[in-house]
Amino acid sequence: AARAQPGVQRLKAYDPGHDLVALRRRFGEANLAELGSNENPYGPSPAARQAILESLHALHRYPDPLGADLKRALAARHGVNVAQLQLGNGSHELLMQLAQVFAGPGDEVVFSRYGFAVFALATQCAGATMRVVEALPRDAAMPCGHDLDAIAAAIGPQTRLVYLANPNNPTGTWFGREAMVAFLERVPPQVIVVMDEAYAEMADAPDYASAVSLLDRYRNLAVTRTFSKAYGLAGLRVGYLIAQPGLIAVMDRARESFNVNGPALAACEAALGDVAHLDWACARNAEQRSALADALTRRGLRVFPSQTNFVLVEFGARTSQIEAALVELGVILRPMGGYGLPDCLRISVGSPDESRRLLSALDQVLA
Ligand code: PMP
Repeated sequence: AARAQPGVQRLKAYDPGHDLVALRRRFGEANLAELGSNENPYGPSPAARQAILESLHALHRYPDPLGADLKRALAARHGVNVAQLQLGNGSHELLMQLAQVFAGPGDEVVFSRYGFAVFALATQCAGATMRVVEALPRDAAMPCGHDLDAIAAAIGPQTRLVYLANPNNPTGTWFGREAMVAFLERVPPQVIVVMDEAYAEMADAPDYASAVSLLDRYRNLAVTRTFSKAYGLAGLRVGYLIAQPGLIAVMDRARESFNVNGPALAACEAALGDVAHLDWACARNAEQRSALADALTRRGLRVFPSQTNFVLVEFGARTSQIEAALVELGVILRPMGGYGLPDCLRISVGSPDESRRLLSALDQVLA
């Protein structure tokens, strides 16, 4: 067989947890509660659908390789310059490319245990060395969250990149602005801090702040965002990176020329314009998140604090049996064995109807 570079040899291919295509065929999509992938149950702005229809006349043309219109809209939204933006085929692509561009064999990339899975994947694909920092303990206020002091202490002369997710997947945990600033003060300027903010739009804790407002103060900061979560456009695969123009210019050299397709560019620009839909979806999510957390807590389960559209929940020794029994009832959750949390399941915050189906299936299984 073809021999991969050492970093890739150790990897396993992405496992979505379940064969969703087979499960949809078996149950019918309408009878499934798909709560395994942190998708937005309400879907995108109608303006995004309309923009896709209007883009179809140009399918034989390559899309704008620079994504200039979307970048202009993003620049206005975030109060940054167009030169501070890079688009990606999902933020996943940008997280991968950051490691590819800034780290290689002999370099170290630092991230937390229970940090988003792509951090380890990106590091190993780049052939760099992973420096995985122990997370906060289970009984901490932010269970299994990022230990920023330990992460800062782990940065050494070989460190090129630090990946942080705020809020983090799969824990749902976050850190506040003060802790973030204290951390950034400790990072040497040549080390790039990647702040993965895939769930930022949904965070409403009083101490939470996006790192976008700190980009001018900490020029080694790079923030990733996505249209997959709050905007409800996971199927289109669009994410973006905000950083200093110099960093973006370097990233741009490694960009696949037409990495974001035409209908996706058009839809995201339209979605960005529909602030009311975004606000509605985020408010809905916050309301359902707290209702779901309360309902699970009432059932004696330990629910991790979350600022995202999912909750991590401890199910104890019978976790895998419970998970399998729920699948038989058409409820799909995400097993956490791959993350080293085998006694937990990650549950996406669905629509009120999906939450009802989840809870009634759970009551059957736990009875
Ligand atoms: N970061 C985090 C923390 C995520 O949970 C996800 C999606 N699971 C991503 C990035 C990647 O999202 P996308 O590629 O769809 O933008």
